[in-house]
Amino acid sequence: LIVPSWSTFVDHMKEIFNKCKSFDQGHVATYIPQLARQDPEKWGVSICTVDGQRISFGDATTRFCFQSVSKAFNYAILASDIGADAVHSFVGQEPSGRLFNEICLDGNNKPHNPMVNSGAIIVTSLLKKEWNMADRFDYVLNEYKKLAGGEFIGFSNATFLSERETADRNFALSYFMKECKCFPQSSHTLRETLDFYFQLCSLEGTCESLSVMAATLANGGVCPMTGEKCVTNRPCRDVLSLMYSCGMYDYSGQFAFHVGLPAKSGVSGAMIVVIPNLMGICMFSPRLDKLGNSVRGVEFCKEMISQFKFHNYDSL
Ligand code: GLN
Repeated sequence: LIVPSWSTFVDHMKEIFNKCKSFDQGHVATYIPQLARQDPEKWGVSICTVDGQRISFGDATTRFCFQSVSKAFNYAILASDIGADAVHSFVGQEPSGRLFNEICLDGNNKPHNPMVNSGAIIVTSLLKKEWNMADRFDYVLNEYKKLAGGEFIGFSNATFLSERETADRNFALSYFMKECKCFPQSSHTLRETLDFYFQLCSLEGTCESLSVMAATLANGGVCPMTGEKCVTNRPCRDVLSLMYSCGMYDYSGQFAFHVGLPAKSGVSGAMIVVIPNLMGICMFSPRLDKLGNSVRGVEFCKEMISQFKFHNYDSL
């Protein structure tokens, strides 16, 4: 077993989970009603090891939208399909140092990285770009289900409709990128591409299902529950590198410093963290700090690092 004294480990994690419950700073996102209506008290954590040991605490079966956590998986799915070089002829690997939805490109007129909106929209435009929209959606949904070992992946149509309704920035950003010739050759309209992007933000999971997806990344792209290869080796390494440097909005540098693990957060309060060769963890708590990360999620990771030597450079 990858974690030999499992019950001791679980006791420690449960203690950290309970400790973080007392953090009530931050605010639920309000830019769409579906997020504004989330219960701020929800708090769930699920852990899945690379050999399939599982434990959950709190609201681990509550459904929530992936939002920006989808950016990591969309990239991993695309890079596994068309290869890293093809993806990175359209998008860079550098932290932008700007807000996640800022209208800016890098020195080569490409989006800075796949974890900000500009890069994620370009990644979306590349996903099975020759296919019709319905098949493209089904393809990605199916890939998510594979990554989650068949556990719950849903879709919130209300969230999708609201996202589309409040998307002026993403439209502005996309027209700017169109002007700069960032998009691949395609028969699809910009409107279709953005719909697809909002649809992928509106996919739903639970702490349980996302912990398996995170564990699949921790396990080199092989789902620990099914043994299925979902992400090829190089894209698995690449997505973890990008999560490490760019996964936590404008807290990414500090998170890499303090926690030292690849992670990705979303505005729903969802957050995944990957401990390579060990486990995937999903945390869910809708109260966000000023940078848009789950307050309890970040605290949980910091507390965990103070008790376990999981930081990338703890092994030195
Ligand atoms: N769906 C929103 C957007 O793309 C927010 C995504 C997020 O989690 N930050 O602008």
